[in-house]
Amino acid sequence: MKCSKCGNPNVIIKKEQSGQYLCKDCFIESIEKKAIKTVRKEKMLDKGDKVLVALSGGKDSVTVLEVLDSFRKLNIIDLCAVTIDEGIAGYRQEGVDIAIRHAERLGIEHRIVSFKDEFGITLDEIMNSNPSKGSCTYCGVFRRAILNKAARDMGATKIATGQNLDDEVQGILMNYLEGNIDNLTKLGPKTTSKSEKFTVKIKPLREIPEHEIGLYVVAKELEVHFAGCPYAQQSFRGEVSQLINNLSENHPTIKYSTLRGYDKIREVVKEEFKKEYTVSRCERCGEPSANKLCRACVFLEEFGR
Ligand code: SF4
Ligand code: ZN
Repeated sequence: MKCSKCGNPNVIIKKEQSGQYLCKDCFIESIEKKAIKTVRKEKMLDKGDKVLVALSGGKDSVTVLEVLDSFRKLNIIDLCAVTIDEGIAGYRQEGVDIAIRHAERLGIEHRIVSFKDEFGITLDEIMNSNPSKGSCTYCGVFRRAILNKAARDMGATKIATGQNLDDEVQGILMNYLEGNIDNLTKLGPKTTSKSEKFTVKIKPLREIPEHEIGLYVVAKELEVHFAGCPYAQQSFRGEVSQLINNLSENHPTIKYSTLRGYDKIREVVKEEFKKEYTVSRCERCGEPSANKLCRACVFLEEFGR
């Protein structure tokens, strides 16, 4: 088999969507082109943006950093990064170290913020205290709070996260299966918050399947943290992911079609289910919130913090 683009006999992948066979160089180029095309199509960036990358050191965030760095090199945007240490023993530190090395390599401003410093409690402590919700619920809320605050402190105008096609399709299906239409309307390439107190979030990798991102970092010899979070398997997301991957075996383009279908109805659903609420400030921490207390503070009260 030869590369469908350049004829190189050393093919490393058959692309599920296009059926093309690609060699290493053409594959790397295809991933970068695809992400750049998504960024342009969805108008994710404006000239002069300072983009904060949520850099965990995992394959997705390192790829986002790499893609956005091409816009930085063209002087279209400026970049900075934040690494969040949730406090997961034996797991997080390696990612933090890798994130530090990438930020140094590119010479970008980088901060590390821990749950412990910010909220006085680690994710491990939360999970050992018989919590009412799953790990990812707390983790997601605390992480969003940290990112939003860091973006403000660092003067960032956008926050870029590493959600890939698999993540996005899991989110669509999970919210649909749970009947959570409010959350369903919040998915998409770019968050549009009613309040300027929340920094706009963008997802440059949302059209690229997870396994292709894994292959991209290997092909490009980028250092990444490959270990999975020890809490990931306990989650509903893990079950939904399994379901979609099983379906993909006989229906290889099902992730793309799910995303395409969602993108077609997204604006209609958003318009139909839009909620009118005003964003004020959390009475406890002062962060923007639609309720008296923000979700992070509601959770912190559960743990007596
Ligand atoms: Fe947090 Fe869940 Fe991701 Fe682990 S899998 S880092 S607990 S969101
Ligand atoms: Zn609060």
